[in-house]
Amino acid sequence: MATERLYYHDSRLLEFDATVIGVSERDDGQVAVILDRTAFYPTGGGQPTDTGTLGEARVVDCIDVESDGVLHMIQGSVPEIGDRVHGKIDWLRRLGHLQQHTGQHILSAAFVRLFDAPTHSFRVLEHECEIDVALEDPTDERIEQAVDLANQIIWENRPMTIRHVTSEEAANLPLRKEPSREGALRVIEIEDFDLTPCGGTHAKSTGEVGVIAVRSWERAKGLTRMQFMAGIRVLADYRKANRTAREVAALFSAGREDSPVLVGQMVGENKKLRRRVSELEQVACRVEAEDLLRGSSPTVREGIESASDSGRVDREAVTDSSRGLSAQRDTPGSDRKKVSDPEGVTRRRLVEVSCSGSNRLSKHCGSVRFTRWRHRAARLRAIVRC
Ligand SMILES: [Zn+2]
Repeated sequence: MATERLYYHDSRLLEFDATVIGVSERDDGQVAVILDRTAFYPTGGGQPTDTGTLGEARVVDCIDVESDGVLHMIQGSVPEIGDRVHGKIDWLRRLGHLQQHTGQHILSAAFVRLFDAPTHSFRVLEHECEIDVALEDPTDERIEQAVDLANQIIWENRPMTIRHVTSEEAANLPLRKEPSREGALRVIEIEDFDLTPCGGTHAKSTGEVGVIAVRSWERAKGLTRMQFMAGIRVLADYRKANRTAREVAALFSAGREDSPVLVGQMVGENKKLRRRVSELEQVACRVEAEDLLRGSSPTVREGIESASDSGRVDREAVTDSSRGLSAQRDTPGSDRKKVSDPEGVTRRRLVEVSCSGSNRLSKHCGSVRFTRWRHRAARLRAIVRC
């Protein structure tokens, strides 16, 4: 015996009594209960499952198995076949799903009305929903136009009715989309606006959806993919976005609306400062190198003079020399203090400075500074060798 689906007739039915007609344990250890009737909506048509309670047990998932009815996946005390049980749906979750699902009917119809752009798919995700619409040349303006029409339909609070029709009757109706199944159809009508076959849970009038907002969009597989939300999800998203905007504004001691300009200015100033810091680092390197050279021994300075025009700078060679010095210092068994003579320390520091200068070189190729630093780095390499 198949389950009678009470949600088909009344999406506001949140409590009901039923008889258990099947209990089974699945491979994954979960217990599935089948009832003679249920108000629990199972996952399907882009709408997630209801949750709630069945007697003392918690209903964590509902699965549609077509002819076998609805499997209620439960946790907790397991009823027996023939038991009478009381079911209770989690209302806020159902309301949220109902608003997203009904909102999608309205938004999809708005895109057809305005741009003859049908919806190809729809998903209710954890925090938002996604629809793929065959919208040509998507722009913020065109999308907002459809959002405005959808909200107008919501605020007019138009009645929504469920019609059960035969396939012959359906063939003569201006349905927004082709039915996905044969035979008798359940058709959802929004007065003077939309007529579409669907098995989900819907509002009784459009006003229950509250509001619709599109958060973002992108081109995907030749379609326009939009992230939108309706009703209580819009409020949750507004709170989150508002909190973020206020926190950013507080950093500037400014109003929320002024933040984008102020952030833009700060990013620009930051780029200029980074450039200036880079220039000053080079100056500091040069000054430090010259200072070190002044303090080095005559032998070292002679070595520099003889190699001062030795050509191209090889940054890797300088780095290798630096490593060589470090290895020499860290040789096992050697006495660090003994090896790290003042001149050795000077040479190591010069290598570090020259490496730093060479790193800067790569960013300033072609400039006068490059030529000067290439010359300087060559001299420093000579120090390492002498
Ligand atoms: Zn629907």
